[in-house]
Amino acid sequence: TKTVTDVICPFCGTLCDDLEVVVSDDGKELLEVYNACAIGAEKFLHSQAKERITRPRMRQEDGSWKEISYDEAVEYTARMLTDAKKPLMYGWSSTNCEAQSIGSEIGELVGAVMDNTATVCHGTSLIAVQDIGIPSCTLGEVKNRADRILFWGCNPAHAHPRHMSRYSIFPRGFFTGKGHTGRKVIVIDPRPTDTARMADVHLQVEQGRDYELLNALRVAFKGEQLPDVVAGIPKEQIYEAAETLKSGRFAIIFFGMGVTQSLGKNHNIDEAIAVTRDLNEYTKAAIMPMRGHYNVTGSGQVWGWQFGFPYAVDLSRGFARYNPGETTSNDLLRRDEVDAVFVLGSDPGAHFPFSSVKKIYDRPSVVIDPHETPTTEVCKVHVPVAFVGVEVGGCAYRMDNVPIETRKVIEPPEGVMTDEEFLDRVLERVREIKSE
Ligand code: SF4
Repeated sequence: TKTVTDVICPFCGTLCDDLEVVVSDDGKELLEVYNACAIGAEKFLHSQAKERITRPRMRQEDGSWKEISYDEAVEYTARMLTDAKKPLMYGWSSTNCEAQSIGSEIGELVGAVMDNTATVCHGTSLIAVQDIGIPSCTLGEVKNRADRILFWGCNPAHAHPRHMSRYSIFPRGFFTGKGHTGRKVIVIDPRPTDTARMADVHLQVEQGRDYELLNALRVAFKGEQLPDVVAGIPKEQIYEAAETLKSGRFAIIFFGMGVTQSLGKNHNIDEAIAVTRDLNEYTKAAIMPMRGHYNVTGSGQVWGWQFGFPYAVDLSRGFARYNPGETTSNDLLRRDEVDAVFVLGSDPGAHFPFSSVKKIYDRPSVVIDPHETPTTEVCKVHVPVAFVGVEVGGCAYRMDNVPIETRKVIEPPEGVMTDEEFLDRVLERVREIKSE
């Protein structure tokens, strides 16, 4: 056997870069994964699953699958996209930037709506950043400098398990040599999560009242009067939390879907960014979204360069339009505005409301995914591909917008295409059909 070191984990936005993977001498079998958390290790090990699908399949009239060739899958996909008036090309968060870039080219040619998983996650954060900017930093700075850590509406103990040991609560950095003993951790969450249990202070905000509490923090920074209770939290606790944040040398606010997708949405994030800005009058402070999929950040980056917008990009009029609420996947599906669905690197079958999933089921659809997922169950064609970050490398962006080159550690099963190879073929075929 041989050990591949400095392997990048292609699961969550933490993109841990210190994994060690033991593979067989011929590079075909993956045997052990070290340093990863349970979900990260599972991603690597799952590539070895005996029941893994390795050939494209097409749904038959009776609901069963029929194996088809990659050529047939390319033809179906290219025809579906060119025949449609306004196809939706969704996902893009669990693949590399190279594939995202080819996907954008196809989207432009066929006049698609390009949307990624931010649409049901941190899209609201992106709107807030466009509204008022963002004072942010890298995870390296957090590790080396931050002594006040605030987790708002996120639960890294479960969703980003090594975030706390590598970057936020526990590591010893250049100016943070005492590790967790030199840091104060505040968690704001309606639920008593495992992250909250580790915190010095847990403010159990009432569900959906984050905006008020954020506002109250700004009042407390200035030492002005607060009502006795705000969002279920007694004012003494709010003054204390404000003082804790102000008295640090470097404060970081990490926030998750508890604030981005609850009442107030992007306005919550406007206010959280304003809290960070205010805090900079007393100390150094930064704020960062806890991005979920390992390369959802990269998808926003690639489309940012290419179209000027990070998600919900409607190319159907021949130029890029962006209007979340109108050009976002669920709104389009529910209003019957898209007539074909292409999914890559995401699982809307598991994450979209049932009413949207049903619309996917009713339309011509293709899903590109190494796994069998709830989405493969509702799509007409399923194209299995190699695992990015395991069987093929490529660029991914960590949650702090740092690009990291993922590594190939083993060979994909024989004949299985990569996302890039498949998209390249579809692009070529779309060009041919368009020129006919
Ligand atoms: Fe992978 Fe995230 Fe776990 Fe790190 S924390 S090993 S990136 S799943």
